[in-house]
Amino acid sequence: MATPHSTRSGIIRRMKLTIAVLPGDYIGPEVMDVALPILETAVSRSGHTLQHTRCDVGGAGIDRHGKALPDPTLEACRAADAILFGSVGGPKWERLPPAEQPERAALLPLRRHFRLFANVRPGRLPKPLVDTSPLRPDRIPDGIDMVCIRELTGGLYFGAKSTRPVPADGRPDGDVEAIDTMVYRRSEIERITDVAIATARARRRHLTLVDKANVLETSVLWRKVVAERIETTAPDVTLSTMYVDNAAMQLVLRPGQFDVVLTENMFGDILSDEMAVVCGSLGMLASASLGIENNRHGHRYGLYEPAGGTAPDIAGQDKANPCAQVLSAALMLRHSFGLEAEARAIEAAVEGAIAAGIRTADIAAGGPAVGTRAMGDAILARL
Ligand code: NAD
Repeated sequence: MATPHSTRSGIIRRMKLTIAVLPGDYIGPEVMDVALPILETAVSRSGHTLQHTRCDVGGAGIDRHGKALPDPTLEACRAADAILFGSVGGPKWERLPPAEQPERAALLPLRRHFRLFANVRPGRLPKPLVDTSPLRPDRIPDGIDMVCIRELTGGLYFGAKSTRPVPADGRPDGDVEAIDTMVYRRSEIERITDVAIATARARRRHLTLVDKANVLETSVLWRKVVAERIETTAPDVTLSTMYVDNAAMQLVLRPGQFDVVLTENMFGDILSDEMAVVCGSLGMLASASLGIENNRHGHRYGLYEPAGGTAPDIAGQDKANPCAQVLSAALMLRHSFGLEAEARAIEAAVEGAIAAGIRTADIAAGGPAVGTRAMGDAILARL
């Protein structure tokens, strides 16, 4: 129950943040163990309390409960205000049938169940880390600071699909055709545009809609709806449009031109990975998947996770970069609890540690590296 209490800056609400913690497999638990004390410190310093339930998911769910998304895990997620997710999967479960694979059998049902329609992925490369990007430093003199917002529950991946023999004169002629359908409704575009507008307003107020409006009907609708939405609800936000093929080039030529990129599901799938790679290590990138429903605190329910996978090649060796998990926790504070100052404090602590030269091997560019736990300690010390 929220209880009001006063601070020097006025009346604030003391909140109880209830979260489901799903560490997952391989490096998942290692980076989660680093992220949780940082999250707890940021939350408790502001007078809020964090209550978390730790649950098995992915391969750990299969091993202990016989399925990737065990019932008690789903229950804990339902009872929570947000989910802090690690990552799932790895060689141990690769021989399972595709539908039982940890990623497919855990993440997709969670997305479906909580109707997680908006994927928010910040692409941030702090200036001290420009050497970790595959781009030439002169292309990114100030680092990179953008956000990709991808529609997550519509479009080509969810439209009707089929594979069928091709009939010729009423009879199959031996050829076969496969069909995927891309469908978008005005209401789907409007709700993701609202997320993009809110994100742009907290940043540099520049939204780039990426589409293929010279070819696709769905893109024509996206352009119309997004332009109308900005005109009627957010005239303070500048809208640009860009074809997806050009956007793919611009991301490597001049990533600094982007503030918030808004795009449909498949384009976002591809561009957000391209953005991740130009930002250097997967170990630095967080992501949020926001749901349609609000939580008890009046903010969006969401699932927060690192952009990378379980990194089995470095698991158990104290080598994983915990920053993506820590920054996912910061995103959770921002989007699911409205705790912007606390989110920024965590982000500043991460950047402070990096600026001081404390880096895990993936971002050390061949220089001295620290382990997962030491990186976490350095971030915690700067909170
Ligand atoms: P990966 O992202 O796990 O690893 C790719 C490379 O990035 C590896 O060299 C890895 O060491 C490195 N890397 C990733 N995260 C890092 C971190 N925090 N610190 C330092 N280095 C890091 O991708 P992959 O190897 O293709 O996949 C491994 C497993 O993860 C697979 O089973 C895959 O299905 C799963 N996966 C899960 C998710 C998810 O849970 N959302 C996402 C992607 C992949």
